[in-house]
Amino acid sequence: MDNSEIKILVVDDQPSNLRFLSELLTAQGYQVYRAICGKLALKSALIYSPDLILLDIRMPEMNGYEVCRRLKATAETEQISVIFLSILDDINDKLQAFRVGGADYIAKPFQIEEVLARIDKQVGLQKLQQQLKEQNAQLQQSQSLLASVLNSSLDGVVAYSAVRNSQRNIVDFQWLLVNPAAEKISEFPLNEIVGKYLLAEIPQAGNSGLFDLYVSVVETGETADREFYYEYARRDTGVWLHIVAVKLNDGLAVTFRNITDRKRAEIALRESEERFRAIFEQAAVGIAKTALCGQFIRVNPGFCQMIGYAESELLQLHWQAITHPDEVEADTDYVRLLLSGEMQTFSLEKRLICKDREVRWANVTVSAMRDAAGTAQYLICAIEDISERKLVQELLQASLETQTRYAEELTRSNAELEQFAYVASHDLQAPLSTIAGSAKLLEKRFHNQLDAQAIKFLGNIVNSCLRMQVLIDALLEYSRVGRSHKRFDLIDCNLVFEDACANLQLAIRQNQASVTRGDLPRIAGDCFQLLQLFQNLVGNAIKYRSHRVPVVQVGALRQGDNWVFSVQDNGIGIAQEHYPRIFQIFQRLHAQKEYSGTGIGLAICQRIVDRHDGHLWVESEPGRGSTFYFSIPVPK
Ligand code: ADP
Repeated sequence: MDNSEIKILVVDDQPSNLRFLSELLTAQGYQVYRAICGKLALKSALIYSPDLILLDIRMPEMNGYEVCRRLKATAETEQISVIFLSILDDINDKLQAFRVGGADYIAKPFQIEEVLARIDKQVGLQKLQQQLKEQNAQLQQSQSLLASVLNSSLDGVVAYSAVRNSQRNIVDFQWLLVNPAAEKISEFPLNEIVGKYLLAEIPQAGNSGLFDLYVSVVETGETADREFYYEYARRDTGVWLHIVAVKLNDGLAVTFRNITDRKRAEIALRESEERFRAIFEQAAVGIAKTALCGQFIRVNPGFCQMIGYAESELLQLHWQAITHPDEVEADTDYVRLLLSGEMQTFSLEKRLICKDREVRWANVTVSAMRDAAGTAQYLICAIEDISERKLVQELLQASLETQTRYAEELTRSNAELEQFAYVASHDLQAPLSTIAGSAKLLEKRFHNQLDAQAIKFLGNIVNSCLRMQVLIDALLEYSRVGRSHKRFDLIDCNLVFEDACANLQLAIRQNQASVTRGDLPRIAGDCFQLLQLFQNLVGNAIKYRSHRVPVVQVGALRQGDNWVFSVQDNGIGIAQEHYPRIFQIFQRLHAQKEYSGTGIGLAICQRIVDRHDGHLWVESEPGRGSTFYFSIPVPK
């Protein structure tokens, strides 16, 4: 050490001693300052900041102890080492010297070597202290740096020391350090955790494999860098952690990051890829990935099966090669629109040419897969075999056309028939009345010349004419139902019922019939035809009476979108096998003598109900009565 850097203040009230020591120390190369009394010593100490003071104890005014006490009590001088020099050699003196802060004590008379050695030792000690101080300051600085790094780190940081048993096996880890991020990630209150034991505090660390991982890091010295699923103790969930564990003395430092979101996204992606793969492999429809030029890149078994090519064969081909020549152009146009971004996806029904040259219809849906910049990378095509659907469609179309043709023919022939019935009945009336008139005239004019049989024949002619007139009128009425184009009005059926009863009052009175109704609805219809309908059904209910007094009840019930009307009687009833017949024109179950009629009433009813988009049917029990039902849609 270079003595010239060391400043020593020598304090002694004896000038000879002062000089002697000063010269001695100067000769040794030290920077030496002198003070002849305590007061001057304190001043010099403040001015020169010596590294060391050689201080005499016995001095007038202020002794060495007091000087030392004051030096130590002053911030600027407290660190200066003081070596007492004294002729007092009592142990109490020495103790007093150390009590007031002295660093050493040399008894007079002294050996010069001893003084130099003690000075040297003190200076060395001081140096060491200085170094220690600096190192401490550095340490403190790096500690606070480390603390702020740890506190602000988003990654969890934990340090452990290994806890070993008598066989030197690691049985636990003791926390040395924990940062706030570690607490947040582990959801474990880590305050006061330093000094505690991992397995004792978090037992699941043992089951989860975390403990074993740490042990292997400490024992092998190999850094562990892995993703780890940490399950929380208190709830049925956990976090994915990316852990880096590094051996640190007989322990380890662990940094970890919560990567749950990324991991979940990865898992979701993997699952969706697996699902896609499963769909791709097992889908009944064909799926193909192609280059933008149409070259097949990947095809699924469904597609191969559909067109009879092996996968390896298809991968050598372009879409164009298996597309029917008539559809190539449309196909190319669509792909162009798709690539230009004008379409996101398109579907096209087209014919595919199978390996065996058979042509199959397919519905092909094509989408472009784009990169982040929006540039199309490849095409994904879903190919559905619609050959059978096409075939059915064609058959349906053909049958639809046939049906339409039939329906048109039917309408035309119906119209013709109606026209014919109308014309016939209308035109027949004139010659019929001529025949009837002529027969009557014949009988009147030649009554005397005709015998009884001839008169009877003439009577037959007139009766037949009358009967025929009735039939023709009925036919006319029937054909009029179809010819009516009157618009439907909203009709109150209660009023229609009353009108029908009024028209039937003679029959009602003659038969002493009871005709009643329930509450009847309003419906959209042709007022006159509805009157005909009610009148025919109620009329029949009275006419086809049994020996009982006729009881007729008319009602209506709503069933879904329809009103279902009923006309119930207690008449003779109808056997079930006759149900279809009675609705046909001129079909009767009785002779004219039993029950008069034309056999056209129910046929007219049928036509009226048809025209109102309804149904007409009967339920009956012979001998007990019949109920005629008809449904009419509820008005919108
Ligand atoms: P018509 O009454 O002029 O004979 P309809 O067409 O009205 O003609 O009736 C056809 C046949 O249905 C009738 O001849 C009769 O046998 C049977 N019929 C109709 N209504 C009833 C009824 N309420 N009870 C029993 N039979 C009926």
